[in-house]
Amino acid sequence: MPKMTVDPNYCKGCGLCIVACPKKIIRFSEDINSKGYHYAECFDQDSCIACKMCYTTCPDVAIKIEK
Ligand code: SF4
Ligand code: SF4
Repeated sequence: MPKMTVDPNYCKGCGLCIVACPKKIIRFSEDINSKGYHYAECFDQDSCIACKMCYTTCPDVAIKIEK
């Protein structure tokens, strides 16, 4: 099963990954990180197809994709 995870402390809440995801399974968290940003999170890991669009779009290398 693919798994997408975001390291909250590298995320600056730009939202580019949310726009890039073809499955629309990324949202902003309710919590904030150490810099005060609502970070991105995947809310439906089962629907992730490991396309890596989020990973390649993230300017801060905050996303990890495991297959
Ligand atoms: S790997 Fe693809 S499907 Fe999975 S969260 Fe990232 S953009 Fe969405
Ligand atoms: S693209 Fe990267 S920095 Fe921007 S919201 Fe997504 S995980 Fe955070």
